[in-house]
Amino acid sequence: MGATALDSIDHWERIVDLLIVSLDGPRDRHDQLRGKPGSYHRAIRLLEEARSRGVNTAVVCVIGPWNLDCIEEVLDVAGQVGSWAYFQPAYRDNFRVTAGMNSDISVDDLRRIARLLREARGKGRPLGNSDGFLRLLEQGPPFGDCRKCVAGKYFGTVLPDGLVVPCHGLAALEGWHNGRERGFARAFLDMPAIKKGPGCSCSPYMESDLIFHGSPSALLTAVRRMVMPAPRGAPDTQR
Ligand code: SF4
Repeated sequence: MGATALDSIDHWERIVDLLIVSLDGPRDRHDQLRGKPGSYHRAIRLLEEARSRGVNTAVVCVIGPWNLDCIEEVLDVAGQVGSWAYFQPAYRDNFRVTAGMNSDISVDDLRRIARLLREARGKGRPLGNSDGFLRLLEQGPPFGDCRKCVAGKYFGTVLPDGLVVPCHGLAALEGWHNGRERGFARAFLDMPAIKKGPGCSCSPYMESDLIFHGSPSALLTAVRRMVMPAPRGAPDTQR
């Protein structure tokens, strides 16, 4: 089994509260979409390594026309590795939320995804998204108003180059500061207010936003994720 990025970091489990790994589908679909054989295997190994060190894990599946049929299988894999699974629709440009969602995902698709996920929760599958998020899916797009979002106020995102942004969906805008130059706390505190934006359906951000706005379902789902192991499915020896 190949090495993972975490192999070179000592005691990383002491600083990681939750490890989130992208999963596009079962092995063949994931490797095909990533364009890299073995990618699925590395992702699963990382999740299993984290779980063995007592770190909570989750998978995020970005849904597009290429894997709309994989929701059940992603939930199966998540159950097999003891992770919660989050789902969200694909955007045209990850760093420019204003470009909108992938045009091949229709409003009907979003409603169908929300219905499938609600049913999955009813069956006890390891679904991480809250009902508040599923309602957001059903209503959008647009999903809201970036000016009302707490990204940049109560939490921020650090990009690999050190840029501190409210969220990666607004990273293409000008005006953010680099934490490597200014200090990360200062770069966060000096972050300009968000002036406009159509909201988004990025699950980690929206779950956080819902929590800060007091959504009971998002709060309950987050607490459940923290205190309960994800419901496990039968181990798949073919993985
Ligand atoms: S809704 Fe919040 S997280 Fe989403 S793009 Fe707008 S500011 Fe960023």
